[in-house]
This record gives sequence, C-alpha cells and structure tokens, in this order.
Amino acid sequence: MEQTRGGTLGGTDGSEADRGVDALTPEETVAPALAPAATTAGGIPAIVSGLRHAVGETGLYRAGRLLLDLNQTEGFDCPGCAWPDPDHHRSVAEFCENGAKAIAEEATRRRVGPEFFSRWSVAELSRHNDYWLGKQGRLTHPMVLHPGASHYQPIGWDEAFALVASELNALGAPDEAVFYTSGRTSNEAAFLYQLFVREFGTNNLPDCSNLCHESSGVALGETLGLGKGSVTLEDFDHAQLIVVEGQNPGTNHPRMLSALQRAVKRGARIVSVNPLPEAGLIRFQHPQHPLDLLGKGTPLASLFLPVRINGDVPFLLGVAKTLLEMAESRPEIVARDFIAAHTEGFEAWQSAVRAAPWDALVARSGIDRAGMRALAELIASSERIIFSWAMGLTQHRNAVDNIQEIVNLLLLRGSIGKPGAGTCPVRGHSNVQGDRTVGITERPAAAFLDKLKTTFGFEPPRAPGLDVVESIRGMAEGRAKVFFAMGGNFLSATPDTELTARALRSTRLTVHVSTKLNRSHLVAGRTAIILPALGRTEVDVQATGRQLVSVENSMGVVHQSRGSLHPISEELRSEPAIVAGLALATLGARSKVDWANLAGDYDRIRELIERVVPGFEQYNRRVREPGGFYLPNGPREGRFDTRSGRARFTIHPVPEEPLGPGQLMMTTIRSHDQFNTTIYGLEDRYRGIGRERRVVLMNAEDLRQRSLRSGQLVDLTSDFRGKARIARRFVAVDYPIPRRCCATYFPEANVLVPLDAVAEKSNTPAFKSVVVTVAPSEGSVPVHPDLHGEAAARF
Ligand code: SF4
Repeated sequence: MEQTRGGTLGGTDGSEADRGVDALTPEETVAPALAPAATTAGGIPAIVSGLRHAVGETGLYRAGRLLLDLNQTEGFDCPGCAWPDPDHHRSVAEFCENGAKAIAEEATRRRVGPEFFSRWSVAELSRHNDYWLGKQGRLTHPMVLHPGASHYQPIGWDEAFALVASELNALGAPDEAVFYTSGRTSNEAAFLYQLFVREFGTNNLPDCSNLCHESSGVALGETLGLGKGSVTLEDFDHAQLIVVEGQNPGTNHPRMLSALQRAVKRGARIVSVNPLPEAGLIRFQHPQHPLDLLGKGTPLASLFLPVRINGDVPFLLGVAKTLLEMAESRPEIVARDFIAAHTEGFEAWQSAVRAAPWDALVARSGIDRAGMRALAELIASSERIIFSWAMGLTQHRNAVDNIQEIVNLLLLRGSIGKPGAGTCPVRGHSNVQGDRTVGITERPAAAFLDKLKTTFGFEPPRAPGLDVVESIRGMAEGRAKVFFAMGGNFLSATPDTELTARALRSTRLTVHVSTKLNRSHLVAGRTAIILPALGRTEVDVQATGRQLVSVENSMGVVHQSRGSLHPISEELRSEPAIVAGLALATLGARSKVDWANLAGDYDRIRELIERVVPGFEQYNRRVREPGGFYLPNGPREGRFDTRSGRARFTIHPVPEEPLGPGQLMMTTIRSHDQFNTTIYGLEDRYRGIGRERRVVLMNAEDLRQRSLRSGQLVDLTSDFRGKARIARRFVAVDYPIPRRCCATYFPEANVLVPLDAVAEKSNTPAFKSVVVTVAPSEGSVPVHPDLHGEAAARF
C-alpha cells in the first residue's frame, strides 16, 4: 500500500517552491485539559468569553463601539455565520459569543506589516499553526514573495497589479487561472469579481460553497427547483416540530438557539439527530435575558437520536417506513391532496421505502426502531415541520441523498410552502449564499451568461469551470498555473493537505486578498502576493464618498453592511477596488467595463446586479430599508420550478455497511473557539476539551477493544483506494459518541481526507465520513508546562 507521510513530513516535498516550508500543521501535541462536557449553552460563560475576546483584542472603547454596531440595521454584518437577523426589531446586543469573537479577530490592534515579514521567513512561519498566525494581527501592506526568496517584501499596489496581470496575460489560455472566493466577500465585490473573471475568459470560479452546502444546493435544486432553503426566521415562531440534523448550532450558529428557545417556550418540539450530544441542543440560557441567567435556562431538544456518522439515509428511510406503516391505520398522515397537486414520484418512492429491509436500516443508522418511531410520531402529529441541517449532512459521499430524504419526509406531510414549515440549510459563512446569487459559480446558468452578454457586450465563456476539488487537481497536474483567492484560507479549508500543498506550490503565482495571515500565504506558488483588504468593521470610502455593501443571509434576505472603524492602515483597499485595479491592469483597453467608475460608487455596481440577476429590482432603494429585502423563493411561495413544475420524491438506495473489521468512521468537527479555519482560541468549552486540538474523540468500548486508554497518544490512518494517509500524535479521548465512530478537529485532520472522496453530484469533499484505523503512537503526551501534572492526573 502506498503511504503518504501525514504526521512526519517535516514539510519539504522537494518541489520548486517549497522553500523549506512545512505543509502540515506542527505536531507538538500536549496533554489536553479535560472537563466534563457542558449540558447548557450560552449563559454567563458565553458573555465572559465573548467580551474577553472582544476587549482583549480591540480594547474597551473599540469593543463597545463595535458590539453596538454589530448586526444593527445601520451597522455592519457579522463576518461570522449566515444566521439571519430579525426583520424588524433588533435588540441592543444583536450578536452571539462567536460574533463577538469574529469581530475581535478582525478589529484587533495587532499588526502584521513589513517589519514582521522581515523578521520571519516563510519557513519559520510555517512551523506555527493557523491559531498562532491569526493572533499576530491584521495585514497592513501588499507583500510579495519573489521566486526563491525566503521572506515576503513590500510591494506597491500598482506593481502588484502589474505583476498579477503579466502572469495572467502570459497564460496559454484563461482556463489556466483559478479564481477562488470565500463567503465573506460582499455582493458588490463578488459581482465585480465574476465579471472580471468572465471577461478575462474563464468560469474557473470555485468557492467555499463547493466545500460546504453544495450538496444542499444540488439536492434542493433537483427536488424543489431552488437550491436554497425555504424558511424564514419567522417560520421558527410558527413551527410545531423542528428537527435539527447534522448540525451543532450552539457553536456554529449560536443565535439560532434564541429561535429554538422561543419555539420551545410556545410549545414546539425540538429533535436533535447527531452523532455527538451537543450542549447547545440540550439546554440554553439566553445571555441577554437576566431571568434565564438566574435560572437554569430552557431545555431544548426533547428527543436526542445519536445516529451513526453518515447513518442519516438509513435513519430517514426508517422514519419514512414507520410513517407509511402508521398511515395504514391513520391515512391522514399522508398529505394526499398536497402530494396529488404539487408532487411527482410518490408511488415509486413509497414502494422503495416499504421494500427497505429493517435490519439494514437499524444496523447502518445505529438507531433502533423505537427511536425511529419516536420521531415518526412527532412528524405524524405535526402539520408545520422544519428540518434544519448543516455540514453533518452535506459532507458525505451520499450527502445529496441525505438532504433529499429530508425533502421526501416534508413532502409526505405537505410541510413546505406554508408558514412554519420547510427546509433550513444553515450556511456557515456570512455571504456564501449571496456570492452564488450574484454569479460566483463554476457552472453558471445560460440565462445568467446571456444577461452578462447583453448588459456588457462581451461573449462570456460557456464551458463549465473548475470547482475546488477540480482546481486542486488542475494545479497539481500543471493545467492551472495561477491561483487567485478572494479571501479564505484555501490550504486549511481543503482536504488532502499534502496534495493541496503540492498543487499550490506547482503554480507560477498565488495571490491572496486577505485581512489576516494564514497558512495559505506560506505554501505558495513560485511567486506569491498578499493584498490586504478592508474588513467588514471598517469604513469604506471611495471616489463618491462612504460606501455600503450588501450580503444575503441563509434565508435569502439581502441587507446592507457599513463599517464604522477607521481602517487600520492607509494601505488597505476594499475588495471592489482591488478587483477594479486588477481588471484595469489585466484587461486594459480591451475591457468593455468602466471599472474605475464602478469602484468609485457601489450604487452603480448594484444597478448592474439589478439588470443581470432576477429579484434585485430597485436594489439601491430596498437595500437601504431597515432589514433589507427578501429575494424570491419558489418553494416558500408554494411554487416548484423543476422541469415538470412539481416537487419530486426521489429514491435512494440503503447504503452498504462502510466499515471493515477494526475500522472507525471519522468525522471532522469544529471547536467552540473556531469559525471555519479561523481558530479564536484553544478552548472547546462545551465539549470540555482545552489546550490541545490534536485529539480524537472515541467511544469507551472502542478504546477498550483496541487496548487504548483515554489520554494515550495515537496515530490515525485513513485508507482510500489503496492509499494510506497518516495523521500522527493525536490524543485519544473517551467521549459519548456512537460505537465505531470517532471525531477529530478540522483542519488538523484534513490530511486524512482524500481528495477523491467526494459527494456524488455535488463533488463536496467527504470531510465527515472518513474510514480510519487508530493505533498507539510512539512516545507519550508531554504535559503542558502550565498544567503541572494536572492533566496527567485526569487520564
Ligand atoms: S449567530 Fe452567526 S451571524 Fe449571528 S452573531 Fe453569531 S456568528 Fe455572527
């Protein structure tokens, strides 16, 4: 079996541009500090933690100003997740602990300028993890890493644009460049960016959606005619049943807990379907409600079903089969009128579900028939049901099937297209949905390209471009030679870390538009450039004065965002200004677009979006209304824009047993001190794990079977199509997770995720179902110097 050197690589792979840089995060594992997992989310610890980060990074005055502006109708949008704000009334503190951490990270007083880069070589920086790099501060100047150089050096904006332009214009074809987008980018910047990229001549526009909710988009598009969720925030106030599946809102979308708490208080039931019990779904103390803080808070999920990792298809099939059996004596369970009027494929789906064998459904899901029946009873007795999910469903080989089985259940009950009912995929990055809406996609619709052509007078490329996985492959094989990233931390966000590093290093140029330093700046092409961008918190002044930008949240509301802080450096540029500068340098007189004019007044960009993208009528007026405006949403309005005009029941096979003897199914997870690849701190407070992120959470029985003990140092090996990938020196931790399952933190364990292991149809990497084996590692866990033996005593 071929082996890659996951944990022991030491960094150099001998490629032209490695510069002695470590591709993988350092392995200096120390003993984690362990405490019992929390059973309540929010409360005073959330207030303390949020304020500690905000005040610690920005100071009392700046923190106060920022927090009062955060998520207000005239303020700036949280750069964290895409959970919506209330349409009308906003409280004084309209944010969560992690929102406070997100702005602390951006508004920090620390700086990473030319002196920093002259002190540290890229090789030295690569010995540090993303947490350390992020804590160094905000990037202040454009920087360049010349071929063979060991250190980044300052470069002027014009010179940087000219350098990028000369590399782009020297390519054999526009398709040899890749233009990545992270979900922080505003609608205005994203529209301008895709316009430049398409006028340049390629659809190579991969984005972070390829890594997270692509499966939701595909699944919902095929069945309901729109690749977005159907519910609004207000629907949570009308639902009778809310099923939260494959999602940990307490950490990843904390303000969702307020909506769940309100729902419970008026009598709705909440069900949690997830391999791990998460504090946020057990009990919640609202940090802004004094009575909650004095009491014990509100119990949320009344039913917890610990499904096996990627056991959701057999589980949902089991629930459907139970409902169909119940319907034999209670025919009203099947919403016959709705099904006849609005759907297709019901009879075939019903036959397939009835034929699914019970023993396989129970064994593969890990939930017994009583558990399935418990959820089926709740579904049967509810008219208004919301299913909410996140990456626990979208990052598996059969991720699209997961979501389509949810759609089947909602259609069975006619629970869509009416208040309090529908689909709720919760997006992880604040404008990942909006970027897609305004054209960031490698597979644009023909109608969108036609509009670009008539509006701007150039012929946009029609061939599909590369998504994230295909881009990595393209770079590794030498087909893609320039990599440009509008935000994000590509190396840490993607699977197969070593292969991704090799891919980036084999390019002629890597360019990152960034606010903070990260590992992607270090694993670079032959030449590398960092372009420092304004953050959401900062005032954006262009030729016509102060600008606002807009974003779209998870529920299709487009609203404005305006920063209030003075930019931390005069050298920063806004993302629209950076795109315009790049386009002018690259396309020059051959462009049909007046770039300087657009960058000088974002209202003009919005006028163009209005002309190209349906649903943005009177964009400039409506985006200035408090709370913004809703985009059209067919399924919400009871309209299904599929080919037949009907919502579709879809049939999926019962998955085969994925594990062989001795194997475990590994999922990657985020800690509570983390937002995507940004690590705010080292405390995963709700799970009771601190100081060390190289841990693997395992069931006690699985530890015992392998003669391992909690606290022992282990190596993890994933085996995919005959190739082994190894992550060394993780600490095994006894945790309540289903048998034959284990969990590790993203991105430390990404080295184990094969690039070729992807979701069918959506091509999203299967970060959450990796088959691994766990074996003792050599050596022992050094105790952290601060612990004085305390941690050792816990094991
Ligand atoms: S719930 Fe999400 S968007 Fe809202 S404040 Fe928290 S991190 Fe920001």
